[in-house]
Amino acid sequence: MLQTLYHVSTYDESLIYQAICNSFEALGVAGDMKPGLKVAIKPNLVTAKSPEFPVTTHPLVIKAVVRWLREHQITDITLAESSGGLYNAEHMNAIYTTCGMKQLEPDLALNMDFSSKTIHTKEDFYNRSFSVITPIAEADYIINICKLKTHAMTGYSGGIKNLFGVIPGLEKPQMHYRWPDIKDFSRMLLELAQTVKPNLTIIDAIDAMEGNGPTGGTSHPLHMIMAARDFYTQDYFAAGLMGLEPMEIEMIRQAVDLGLANPSDIHLHGDSIPENLTPFQVPDTKNLDFSGVLPGKLGKYFAKIAAKVLKSYPQVHKDLCVGCGKCAESCPAHIINIKNKKAVFKKKGCISCFCCQEMCPMKAISVKRAL
Ligand code: SF4
Ligand code: SF4
Repeated sequence: MLQTLYHVSTYDESLIYQAICNSFEALGVAGDMKPGLKVAIKPNLVTAKSPEFPVTTHPLVIKAVVRWLREHQITDITLAESSGGLYNAEHMNAIYTTCGMKQLEPDLALNMDFSSKTIHTKEDFYNRSFSVITPIAEADYIINICKLKTHAMTGYSGGIKNLFGVIPGLEKPQMHYRWPDIKDFSRMLLELAQTVKPNLTIIDAIDAMEGNGPTGGTSHPLHMIMAARDFYTQDYFAAGLMGLEPMEIEMIRQAVDLGLANPSDIHLHGDSIPENLTPFQVPDTKNLDFSGVLPGKLGKYFAKIAAKVLKSYPQVHKDLCVGCGKCAESCPAHIINIKNKKAVFKKKGCISCFCCQEMCPMKAISVKRAL
């Protein structure tokens, strides 16, 4: 598996463009380009945050990819994303504006078709079909451009997790409700990834996020852009650069077990891995895994008790809450109400998915353990 890595000190248009050109040359992307190719770019636009925050894919990374495509006579290019919350013109227009995407027009079309298509999956998948936003379902070629982050629920967010945003609007919280356990949710992400099959995945890690990602963490720049065709192995590689143990990230562990990721076969191209990288802070939600402490049935019993005792729940800080209702809108368990312009959470029924924390624009939701 060929993995490119280029050092990019800052969000500078010409430096990024050079890194993209070098990566695409190494990966032989020009050979994929054909007249009339319909290209969809899948960014991470999880919420409305301006590009100086390490929350969303930086517009200059997308701009560099679009420039390269146009120089290769590709003109049918659409930005395709369903952010957290509603999937409609009003919401996505606000996202495009705040995230700096409007400046990319007219070279890139910002998707305004809010329909979706049902894609049937392989017979042995637990998810026999997925509802996928139309520009992704109809694309000939998909370029996945994610932001490198820690993540409250999955621990890590890179190429695989970014594809969750092809599921339209509030169907995403429904998937959390259907698969509340991290093992099942990770399996769903991998089945989705194998269905969408992006041709290329680029990781924007010039600035990255540590701590309470995907929206409430803080900046941890790696000053690099990575790219690969094999995004499963790339996620293994990138998680390692963050100082995470890739095999402790459930979706990566399952990708390795399924033979989708092959960490023993990584050929690095471009710049070297910087020495003395500082490990990323992990999210507050990261539970300890006690399953290996005691052997056999006793170990499993202990792990069950520990999971209950250590389970994390959201906690609202009333002084920061402005009563916008975005948390309630995205809660798959419907246990959040807005009363007197403040969010009120019920504990019963909470599946600890942290969609509410992800969607809160005020960082008013933190994590609290049962004990
Ligand atoms: S907790 Fe956050 S998302 Fe929920 S109503 Fe308050 S400010 Fe809005
Ligand atoms: S309250 Fe928050 S963490 Fe609990 S189910 Fe709702 S969105 Fe998920």
